[in-house]
Amino acid sequence: LPGMSQPAENSQPHKIDDVKWIKSIRHRLLGDYQSDTSGPLMVVVACLHGNEISGADAALRVLNVLQREEIEFAGRLFAILGNVPAYDARTRLIEEDLNRIWTKDRVEKALTSAPVSIEDEQMAEIRRTLDVISNSENTSRYLLDLHTTSAASPPFIAHAGEGESRDIVKRIGAVEVRHITDYLSGMLVKHTSEIGWNSIAFEAGSHMQADSVDIHETLIWQSLASARMIPEKDIPVRIRLRQAELKQLDTIQTSVEVVHHHVIEEGDQFQMRLGYCNFQNVEHGEILAEDRHGHIHAPVSGRVFLPLYQEEGRDGFFIVQDSINDAHDDAA
Ligand SMILES: [Zn+2]
Repeated sequence: LPGMSQPAENSQPHKIDDVKWIKSIRHRLLGDYQSDTSGPLMVVVACLHGNEISGADAALRVLNVLQREEIEFAGRLFAILGNVPAYDARTRLIEEDLNRIWTKDRVEKALTSAPVSIEDEQMAEIRRTLDVISNSENTSRYLLDLHTTSAASPPFIAHAGEGESRDIVKRIGAVEVRHITDYLSGMLVKHTSEIGWNSIAFEAGSHMQADSVDIHETLIWQSLASARMIPEKDIPVRIRLRQAELKQLDTIQTSVEVVHHHVIEEGDQFQMRLGYCNFQNVEHGEILAEDRHGHIHAPVSGRVFLPLYQEEGRDGFFIVQDSINDAHDDAA
């Protein structure tokens, strides 16, 4: 029977330091579930931004169901908190944004020298965890990075690499924002994509939306089925119903591309005008925000994306437009 990860002797043989390491990261560990049947490795990262707690709740719900029900399970599901000190303080970050520092140089430095910030230390520990639990027996590796937004929003996929992640994207049916990693450097999923993980960053809705937990949970179950870690029939019925509802949502059906990024400079006193939600249509010239230089107009028509309604952050807003190539068709 599948069960919670037990000491190595009655489980899949994994590297000796795996058990030791996992004990040492208990503060970060939400759960670890595996069966005797080998299969993919899926890591859920919740709270990379400490105030986005919905992903942690969703991962715990899934782990609970897996422990209670007799679901045929292959591989290993591992769920961790991203920014532990920020999660404890219920803030987005402590010193810097943990989803903007995963550049090649910084990751390498973080692994070899003393940390330069609290988030730097978090980054090194997460990367080591990924390395330690990566097992040559796992046929494929998946990473789900779960977020919520400060503005009201329909669910959307903020990044999905190529390969096996495309199957998950197709299942979820949420709008995909293409090429955001070209504008936001140092995202976790960009880094993990580069080191061989099928990586998806998913925004479930706003921090305050009660729905966000259900939507995150739906993504995890659908991803497990897509990776063939559970049989299709074992996706809980309430999740299937939820998924059907999601697909009926009158959201944007195609994928979108970023065409404009408003970067906030130090001391700008940026204030987004109230009432914008994600993917709302805006006209060229519309006043979207104010700062110490005056009004900030939309330089092009499109849909406003990630309008900033919180204290922290350097990204005021983006404008996206429907992309010509529909990402829900098989990507080249
Ligand atoms: Zn986030």
